[in-house]
Amino acid sequence: MGEAADMRSSTQNPAESFGQIMPGQDPYGALYIHVPFCKQRCLYCDFTTQAIDHESPELRAYTDNMILAIRRAGRTGLLGSLRTVYIGGGTPSFLGQKYLTELLYTLSLSMHLTEDVECTLEANPDSLDERLVRDLWALGVNRLSIGVQSFNDDELQALGRIHSAQQARDAIAAAKERFTNLSLDLMCGIPKQTLESFRASLEEAIALGVSHVSVYPLTIEDGTPFEAKVQSGELADTDPDFQADCMELAAEVLEAAGMQRYEVASYARPGFECRHNIAYWTGVPYLGLGEGAVSMAQNANERVRFSAGGEVLDHLNASEMLAEDLMLGMRMTQGIGPELVSAARTTFARFDDVCGELVERKLARWEGERFVPTTRGWLCGNELFGAFLDL
Ligand code: SF4
Repeated sequence: MGEAADMRSSTQNPAESFGQIMPGQDPYGALYIHVPFCKQRCLYCDFTTQAIDHESPELRAYTDNMILAIRRAGRTGLLGSLRTVYIGGGTPSFLGQKYLTELLYTLSLSMHLTEDVECTLEANPDSLDERLVRDLWALGVNRLSIGVQSFNDDELQALGRIHSAQQARDAIAAAKERFTNLSLDLMCGIPKQTLESFRASLEEAIALGVSHVSVYPLTIEDGTPFEAKVQSGELADTDPDFQADCMELAAEVLEAAGMQRYEVASYARPGFECRHNIAYWTGVPYLGLGEGAVSMAQNANERVRFSAGGEVLDHLNASEMLAEDLMLGMRMTQGIGPELVSAARTTFARFDDVCGELVERKLARWEGERFVPTTRGWLCGNELFGAFLDL
């Protein structure tokens, strides 16, 4: 789905084999729970998810495994310092009221799921109604992220989404009965989309009073129906210039409405930034539970990402960690703060030269002691982020 979909995880519990994977490990600050099921697969989607019948016994089995994984993680002491929880997918709302209740109840017994813990659940418009909204709120969810993508029915159909624009409006109205912390995903570069229709979707998001909007350019991923259509010539490939125009338009329209762009793809009313994603971008260790996903553990000297099956996916030493922190920092409006700048100067002889080159190319600038990205830098993201990975 959307916002945090790149941090997927697995039913096998990393807590069992990775309770402490390194000496002096920092506690996990963020938890990702992956629900890898959807009612129907969208034509562009390459996420770890499967279309499944709602009556399938797999949903029962998956929920049971997840409950065990959460309990084990709680018993092992891995959930004691969590500041954010993100239940993503797939389509978590597709699990339905019964299984979500069981899962959230277990979570509330296994960690301090207090009001100041940000607890997000991803929902699709076709599986979110007033009753589910009420239950989610009562069980500790305090942020909803709704996968709208567009308020234009032709565009939704082109994407293979199963919901209509009206269902999205209804789901948002239901969500607003309880939630003020409410996010929408919108997509640009959709087949049949024009700048005018994209503007209309942005304006509708504002009119509906959501507190957060994420804007993603469509990408044609390997192995998807969209890729096959592009190969056969049935569908035009994405147009980077059109997508860049859309990203600029999103900034113009959303900022004019009082939202602040705090990350390359994320806009929020002040105080409604997604703390879970900020944790990913600021080097906070995270634990992933659910199918096919990733956890990150670190101490002062090393950072390891591992799958739930125990496979080490990458292993960074202290200077590689710092380079990654610099790169991730440049995704955010606040950029790289004085502490990281000072550490980078000590570690990388070329740091100031690289920054100088980026400033010259107008991809970044100094704001006092902070080094921050420009809009142009975000449009040329690979060059900007790559500069730090190459240090
Ligand atoms: S709703 Fe569509 S885009 Fe989201 S995970 Fe399911 S298939 Fe993928």
